[in-house]
Amino acid sequence: MPLQIVHHPDYDAGFAVNHRFPMSKYPLLMQALHVRGLIQAEALSMPEPAPASWLKLAHSVDYVDQVITCSVPEKIEREIGFPVGPRVSLRAQLAAGGTVLAARLALVNGIACNTAGGSHHARRAQGAGFCTFNDVAVASLVLRAEGAAENILIVDLDVHQGDGTANILKDEPRAFTFSMHGERNYPARKIASDLDVALPDGTGDAAYLERLGAILPELSAKARWDIVFYNAGVDVHAEDRLGRLSLSDDGLRARDAMVIGHFRALGIPVCGVIGGGYSTDVAVLAARHAILFEVAATFA
Ligand SMILES: [Zn+2]
Repeated sequence: MPLQIVHHPDYDAGFAVNHRFPMSKYPLLMQALHVRGLIQAEALSMPEPAPASWLKLAHSVDYVDQVITCSVPEKIEREIGFPVGPRVSLRAQLAAGGTVLAARLALVNGIACNTAGGSHHARRAQGAGFCTFNDVAVASLVLRAEGAAENILIVDLDVHQGDGTANILKDEPRAFTFSMHGERNYPARKIASDLDVALPDGTGDAAYLERLGAILPELSAKARWDIVFYNAGVDVHAEDRLGRLSLSDDGLRARDAMVIGHFRALGIPVCGVIGGGYSTDVAVLAARHAILFEVAATFA
């Protein structure tokens, strides 16, 4: 079976190429997936923008309205890292809609991936750290509200701690947040997940994978998970501009195979989102994000 992939051309909000946020990675990732033969027309879906009612399950009414009407206060825009104009607003609604769609496809097909998502620094009351809406928190709460999933596990392996997801889901006993991240990285003030593992600078492939391999069985033993959201941020890579954990391409591949393989072997659906990745060479960065899809395709 081909891997179910969710994508929208407007995930790319068209920033200048020298912007700190490498927006062009979205079209370049699609190009990389085409080159690898991973895009099959019958397994490619395009999301609709998430309706406000979904976004308001995870975010405050005021903040959702501010993003939709492009009237986010400047102070919050500075924390996000870019102004929220019409394209950024649309992109945030589409990415959240995309993760909901990918989650639904994962429930049916066992695995599906969004070519965006993992905006884990967006908290209930505002965005932050290049994240406008928290797509994984939105999707978790939509699935819960619809009764499509009861017990939800979030495995967040982006190099940055999943503070926003922890903030939004802290009162949701059926959603378990796990974040493994660089101890010295953004955000300076972390918000406790249900389980946090902070790694020292320079943790390489071997130590990283050993730690992860020990934790996965603990996570699967906690509940009968109906779905796992996997944030496969590639900013753990040695050449990432913001990461500090020194993983190689092979390390990334082994990590993705370990996570997806673990949960698929237990019959648990996995919804993959790409998370963070920062490099001035955006084609190389897109190829790094493509690893998630290459690995996921072997489990489709
Ligand atoms: Zn990150």
